[in-house]
Order: sequence, then C-alpha cells, then structure tokens
Amino acid sequence: MPDRRHQSKPPVHTEIPRTKRAEGQWALGYTEPLNKNEQSKKDDDPLNVRDRILHTYSKRGFASIDPADLRGRFRWMGLYTQRAPGFDGGKTATLEEEELDDEYFMLRVRSDGRLLTHDAVRALGEIGVEYARDTADVTDRENIQYHWIRIEDVPAIWDRLDAAGLSSLEACGDSPRPFLGSPVAGVAVDEIIDGTSALEEIFDRFIGDPAFSNFPRKFKTALTGHPSHDVSPETNDVAFVGTVHPVHGPGFDLWVGGGLSTNPMLAAKMGVWIPLEEVPDAWSAVAGVFRDYGYRRLRSRARLKFLVADWGIEKFREVVEKEYLGRELVSCPSPASPVGHRDHIGVHDQKDGKKYVGVAPIAGRISGTLLVQLADAIEEFGVAGARLTPYQKIVLIGVEPERLEALVARLDEIGLSARPSTWRRNTMACTGIEFCKLAIVDTKERARRLVGELEQRFPDLDTPITVNVNGCPNACARTQVADIGLKGQLVMHEGQQVEGFQVHLGGATGLQANFGRKLRAHKVTSAGLDDYITAVVSNYLQDRVDLGEDFATWVA
Ligand code: SF4
Repeated sequence: MPDRRHQSKPPVHTEIPRTKRAEGQWALGYTEPLNKNEQSKKDDDPLNVRDRILHTYSKRGFASIDPADLRGRFRWMGLYTQRAPGFDGGKTATLEEEELDDEYFMLRVRSDGRLLTHDAVRALGEIGVEYARDTADVTDRENIQYHWIRIEDVPAIWDRLDAAGLSSLEACGDSPRPFLGSPVAGVAVDEIIDGTSALEEIFDRFIGDPAFSNFPRKFKTALTGHPSHDVSPETNDVAFVGTVHPVHGPGFDLWVGGGLSTNPMLAAKMGVWIPLEEVPDAWSAVAGVFRDYGYRRLRSRARLKFLVADWGIEKFREVVEKEYLGRELVSCPSPASPVGHRDHIGVHDQKDGKKYVGVAPIAGRISGTLLVQLADAIEEFGVAGARLTPYQKIVLIGVEPERLEALVARLDEIGLSARPSTWRRNTMACTGIEFCKLAIVDTKERARRLVGELEQRFPDLDTPITVNVNGCPNACARTQVADIGLKGQLVMHEGQQVEGFQVHLGGATGLQANFGRKLRAHKVTSAGLDDYITAVVSNYLQDRVDLGEDFATWVA
C-alpha cells in the first residue's frame, strides 16, 4: 500500500499532547495495524473492491466473495450484507456476525444535499422496483437505502446511478460518509449563505481520493447556510454553519467532534469565519487531522470526537492552522443557536417568488413505487426537483404558486403529506431488526404503529414532541437528542426477555442542545410503548407551566 500519510501536511509541527498510552496515531509514529479493521485497510485500499465487484463477484456470485471484502471493504461501496430473516433479538445475542449474513445486501445511495431532478428521482424509484423488492427508505443522512440487492445486479445499478449523476461511493466505511446539506440551499428567503458549491467541490475533490479513504473510523460532514441549522450540525464530525462576520459578511463557522452512539458528544464550535470558497480546504484540513492524529488502536475510541475532547478546541484549531492550512483562520463569534423546527415541512416562500414544500413519509419509509410516483408529480407540475432531509423527509423545490394546491393534493394522494400530524412529522426510526445485523428490536414498523396510535390519542397536540426509535445503542436515528429517545434492547417482562427500549427523555439540539436523561427505571417493552408514551405526554400536558414550556424544558 502506498504511504499516503501527511500528503497534504506542511512541514510545521505543533506541540501535541501525548496520550498516556499509544492510541495508534499515524502522525505520532504508530503505524502498525492495531486491530483487524486497520489490518484489512492496510492489506488493500478499500476503494479497490469496486473492480472486484464489477469484474469478479458480480459474475461469479455471492459464494465467490472474499470474506475480508464482504464484511469490510464492501462498505466503501455503500454495500452491507443485510440481516438474514428469521432471527429475533433474543436469538441474535449469541450469534457471530457471519451467522447473521444474508446473501442480499443493503445499498446506500448518497445525495449529499443535491437537488434531485425528476429523472434522478425516477432512476432511484426504478432501481427500488427492479432490484430491491420495492424498498427505498429515506435515511437521516440524506441517503436512499435499498434492501434485497443481489451482487449480480450491482453493476447494472451503478450504471443507472451514474447516468442519474448519483453514487454509492464511500456511503459507508471508514471514509467521508454522505454529506448533509441544507435541503433549502439557494432558495430559502431567510438563508444566510448558499453552501451548495462548497459541498459539490468537496465531493468532486475528495470522494474516491485514496488520500482520504482510510480514516480511523467514519467521518460525517454537514453544511448549512440556513439559520435553523437544518443539518443537525451538533452531531457531525465536521460541520460548516452559516455565520455573518461584521466586516467580511456571510461565511461559515467550523464545528468539529460531534457524534452520538455510545459516549455521545456535541460538536465543539471553533468560532471562526471561513469564506465559501475556502470551505473545501478547511474540510480537507480537518479530515487530514482526523486521518493523521485520529485514534486507531480501539474502534470504540476512533471517532474524531475523542480527539477533540482530549485536545480541546483551541489545540485542534492550532493544528488545523499550522500543520494543514498554513494560515490562521479569522475569528468570529459562533452564530446564535436556533429554536424551533428544522425540517422544512409544509409550504414556504422562496427568494424567487416560488414555493418549497416539505413532505413527511412515516419514519422515512417509502418505496421504489412511491419514488416513481413522486418523479411523475415533479415532472407534471414543473417542479425543479427534490431534496432529502436529515429528518427522513423530502422537500420539493421550485413550485409555481398557482400549481401549489394541486401539487399538495397529488402528494397527499401518494402518501406524502405536506400537512402531517405532529406525530408523523416528529418521529424518526433507524433501519432496525428488519435488515440491520446489529439491531436488537424492530423499529420501522413499530414507529408506524406508534404514529397511528398517538394520532388517535393526541390528535390536537399543540407542542411538537420528537420521538426517535433506534434498534440498538448505536443511535443511528439520534437517540440522545430527541424529546423521547428510544434505544433498543432486551428488557425483562414477566420473567422473559422481550424486545423493548431504554428511554432517554428531554434531549434537544439548537438553543437547548442537550442529551436526553437516561433514567434507569425508564425501560419499556415494545408492546407497552404506546401506553408508556401516552402516560409521559399526559403528565407533560398536565404539569407544564404554560404553553411556552416545551417538552425538553419540562423534563429538565
Ligand atoms: Fe442498526 Fe443500531 Fe443503527 Fe439501528 S441504531 S440502524 S439497529 S446499528
């Protein structure tokens, strides 16, 4: 493997705090592989698996796949083996990962905040229909996620994606994972700055670049110029957030080291001003620090958040400036944290007199058929296109005002409501036991039934309460920053272990950014979830001081 370390580093060194024991940081000379993931990446650049998929595995079938590719490098192509059907959470606990492998794959397609034209939406829908048993979920990383993919069909799927300007490259793995971009970039009347060109440049320069294909672990990027901070910047490894410098005008602050899962941490704010055209260089500087100084010894400590927590934001900034950028960043107070919705649901004005319309599937579950229907609507109504959101929603951009109501009615007909109930609007769910090998409990179907039940029990709720349903502690649907965060686990019920959840109450992002409180007693069976949430919400409605006291404040 060519030595790619320090490729972009100027020869300037900062005094780096030494950790008590070697953490596997390349820049400090710890280059030996320290776990099986590091060994696999050293054995072969994961990007090379693309050729083997195209020319060998897709022709010879599932049995021909090298296990090191199957459970490792395939992820760099957005491919994971999905969970074999028939295992419930209880049985799973004793099984090895290999025993859970199905011969089918989950495939993630990244959108990176792009505007998807009707042709692109149609291509995504047709892939779902033809190759994925009509699956096609919207994820909270702005991906479309398919299931039931056969290795034999991957080349044809990639051809279809290429033709639509889309890709699954580095959609998983220890790589620059799909970017979150503001769903209303370039159109919202209250936008501070449009970051579209910066995200496009980061993609063009760095996705698929071997210099950035071997991070210590996943590396999540978010960028928004919208004042609602609509990309959950607090929970990403690197985030660029619109800000206004009193002299220089609009630009971006830089936040680093956010991440949930176990040991959740909110991103640290650097308090700088970066002009739009310098964002890609700043991104590569942060990515370089992570690649070279990130911890590689233990997977559980390999996310950027641990490095930022150990160094502190001042030291991190100093290393970025001295060793990677070769210049100082402009200081600027971080932008004020927002309150309120970030999801863009409903009808809103654009700068150009047109409208944008945010619609809500239930917990991100859609289908290939629905995407084809959406493509038909986009084309028929002359809409510019659609963007996916970090809240498992879809926003249609560029709607002519005179065609608005007819479009909204059409979307409603196909199951995409622009005026959803508060429960439908504010509930998310991760993949869960249906397909995810790490899952302990069902999530998507559980969330769908929960939404239906809560719509009956609280049809006129006047305050949004967010519910994030997760199938295990990994928090892919952001357990810790929901009003009611649910972490899948087995719980005891009448002497038996059954599917259930540890509850986290009162989490939030924005002005009141905070992790939900995990109360030992707040565990609930999956079957008892509707009644549990009913009791919590009823207590809140009775106890709150007034309408202005939101759920997170009440919990606090
Ligand atoms: Fe799978 Fe757990 Fe992530 Fe849900 S939170 S998608 S169950 S790893």
